[in-house]
Amino acid sequence: MPKWLTGHVIDIMEESPTTKRFWIEVDNVEHFAFKAGQFITLDLPIHEKRHKRWRSYSIANPPKGYNIIELCISYFKGGLASEYFFKELKLGEKITFKGPDGVFCIPQQPPSSLIMVCTGTGVVPFRSMIKDILSRPMQPDLIHLIFGTRVKENILYLKEFISLQEKHKNFRYTVTLSKEENWEGWNGHVHQIYEKEYKFSPATNYYLCGWKAMIDEAQVRLAAMGVPKENIKLELYG
Ligand SMILES: Cc1cc2nc3c(=O)[nH]c(=O)nc-3n(C[C@H](O)[C@H](O)[C@H](O)COP(=O)(O)OP(=O)(O)OC[C@H]3O[C@@H](n4cnc5c(N)ncnc54)[C@H](O)[C@@H]3O)c2cc1C
Repeated sequence: MPKWLTGHVIDIMEESPTTKRFWIEVDNVEHFAFKAGQFITLDLPIHEKRHKRWRSYSIANPPKGYNIIELCISYFKGGLASEYFFKELKLGEKITFKGPDGVFCIPQQPPSSLIMVCTGTGVVPFRSMIKDILSRPMQPDLIHLIFGTRVKENILYLKEFISLQEKHKNFRYTVTLSKEENWEGWNGHVHQIYEKEYKFSPATNYYLCGWKAMIDEAQVRLAAMGVPKENIKLELYG
């Protein structure tokens, strides 16, 4: 049986018109231990049947030795958890969860190059990983975060990633928007970026996170580029 923990919602912030950040303070522990890239599973009051109440969310903050977990959750119209998080959940509410779980993590000795590809809240585990890796003594030569969404206002953690890019020479940040005309950056989907930039470097390590359509397409395209399967790690949201 999993060990269920409890916590309380101590802060909620709008990150974009369709995404919110939630901070949960874990009860009865000083240090909630997890690895960057892992997730927790919440038992939400959204259904009578237990297994229909469970939803997993990646941890957005890096492990820093305290008992706070940050989640970043997007709204999916009609989704039971989405409706709960965006229309019912209030500050101070009790949260029941298990975890941390998952193996979507960067090894202690990281590979020399890491390309992280994501759309929407797929960026969440990468935010934890990037902040974690950039504070380690052993650093990769390159961490490239490739983030895709539809429009400018949906870019998540924009200022933070820009500031990390300014501070760390080995961190690159590229955003591409698929439905924004008035924008000076990339237009279109995430795939065109790694295909163009890393065409001749099949030994690069890829981390993919998000929903099935993006992940399936990336796997096909990376295989066509000659990237071996063992160089691709993924976290599938559904
Ligand atoms: C390991 C893991 C980590 C996750 N981390 C996060 C996270 O950090 N942030 C986050 O927002 N979600 C995350 N998810 C997804 C999350 O668990 C829920 O599936 C999501 O919140 C939708 O739940 P719901 O009850 O609102 O919708 P449901 O009623 O469960 O949705 C029904 C179906 O709609 C589709 N769907 C739902 N949302 C989307 C979407 N945004 N885009 C495309 N299709 C969608 C899916 O096919 C889903 O099966 C994660 C999932 C996993 C497995």
